[in-house]
Amino acid sequence: MSVQTTSPLALHGGPKAVPSGLLRDWPEIDETDRRMVLASLEQPNHAYGPNSQAFQAEFAAWNGNKHAIATNSGTAALHMAVVACGCGTADEVIVAAYSWSSSATCILHHGAIPVFVDIDFETMNLDPARLEAAVSPRTKAIVAVHLHGLSADMDPILAVARKHGLKVIEDACQAHGALYKGRKVGTLGHCAAFSFNQNKCLCAGEGGMFVTDDDEALARARQLWSFGETRAPQEDRDYHAYALGWMYRMPDLTGALGRAQLAKLDRNLARQRENAARLSARLRGAPGLILPAEPQGCTHNWYNYTLRFDMKYFGREEQPRAFRDKLKAAMVAEGVQTSVWQNFILPEMTVFRAQNGFGAGHPWSHPLARKISYDPAQYPQARRHTETHTGMTVPLRYPNGDEVVDRTADGILKVLEHADEL
Ligand SMILES: *Cc1c(COP(=O)(O)O)cnc(C)c1O
Repeated sequence: MSVQTTSPLALHGGPKAVPSGLLRDWPEIDETDRRMVLASLEQPNHAYGPNSQAFQAEFAAWNGNKHAIATNSGTAALHMAVVACGCGTADEVIVAAYSWSSSATCILHHGAIPVFVDIDFETMNLDPARLEAAVSPRTKAIVAVHLHGLSADMDPILAVARKHGLKVIEDACQAHGALYKGRKVGTLGHCAAFSFNQNKCLCAGEGGMFVTDDDEALARARQLWSFGETRAPQEDRDYHAYALGWMYRMPDLTGALGRAQLAKLDRNLARQRENAARLSARLRGAPGLILPAEPQGCTHNWYNYTLRFDMKYFGREEQPRAFRDKLKAAMVAEGVQTSVWQNFILPEMTVFRAQNGFGAGHPWSHPLARKISYDPAQYPQARRHTETHTGMTVPLRYPNGDEVVDRTADGILKVLEHADEL
C-alpha cells in the first residue's frame, strides 16, 4: 500500500512514504566478496599484492584501456593524471566550477593552478561554450569531470584541447560504465581516474584506478605512485627515487574486494539504470521539479540522481537554499534517502579563495603565474545549482528495485504537494 500524497507530511505526524527497513545498504556483500577477501588474507602479500595486480588487469579489460594502475584513492589517481599530463608549477589546468574538491586540489598537489569554468545548468558538467575563453598561454590541461555519472560533452572539449595543444584528464570517479557516443568514459581523454570509495558505483571501501592508453603517461604516473621509482614492487627494484613520488599503491585486501565487486558491476549498473528510468517516469511533470538530463548520445550511470527545485515556481527566489533545505528535510522525514552533496562551488572554497596552498601564496605567488580571479560571480550556473539541488544514491543502487523506487517517488511527490506548508 502506498501512502497517498494527500495524507499529512511525516514531518507533521503523517505516515512515512518509505517504510523503515525497506532500503537496502550499498553495496550488497555476498559469498563472492567473502571468498575473495578471505583468499587475500590467506596468501602472504598484503601490500600491493596479487589481487591489486589482477584488479588492474581486469579493470583495464572491463573499461577498454591499455594500462591501469591500482591506487589507494581516486584523488591519488587524479594527482597521477595531472603529473602524467606534464603539469607542474604555475601551469594552469581548467576544471568545472562545481565538482568534488579533489577534482581541483589534485591540480594544486603538483604546484599547478586551477582555473574554473562555469557549468551548464542542465547537465551540471563543464559548459564547453565557456571553455576556450579560459585558455591562456599557461594552460596545460583540462580536467573533464563526468559529474554524477553523466559524461561531460567530450567532442567540443577535445576540439578545444586539440586546437591549443592541451591534455584532457577525465575525472571518472563517479562515472563507471557511463558512455559518450557509445564509448566508455575513461577512454576518451589522455588519461582518467576512477574511485572505488564506499559511495561509488564500484565500492572497494576506498581505492582508485589510473587508466591510460599512452605509454609515456603511464611511466610518469607510475613514478608518482610509488616513491618516485621507475619499477613496481613486483619487479626487480633498484630502490632509487628518480623523481618526487608519493605512496599511492592499493593494498591487496582492497584489490580483492574490488575484483569481487567488478564481477558484479554490469549487473549493478543495469539495475541502477532501470531504477532511474522508473523514478523519472514517476516524477516527470511534477510541478516545481527539474529532473536530471540524459542528453542524446550520452548513457548515464545514475551514480547520483539529482533533483533541482524551480524556485520561481515556488516563489522562493529570495532564499532558495533555506527552502531547498526544508524540502529536503521533509523528504528525509518521509524516509527518502536524499542529501545535499556539495553546498559550495569550488572557487568559493577557502583552499582556493585564500590562494595559499603551501604557504607564502604558493603556487599562485610564483613569478611565472598569471593572476587568477575566483570571484564566485563568474559562475552563476554553478551557484544556482548549489542552491537548489538534493541528490540520491542508495535508492537507485542494487539490490534496491521497484518497491524502493516507487515509495521514494511517493515521498518526493507528497512533499511537493505539501510544499506550501513548509
Ligand atoms: C569521489 C570523487 C573523487 C575522489 O575520489 P576518492 O576515492 O574519494 O579520493 C574525485 N572526483 C569526484 C568527482 C569524486 O566524486
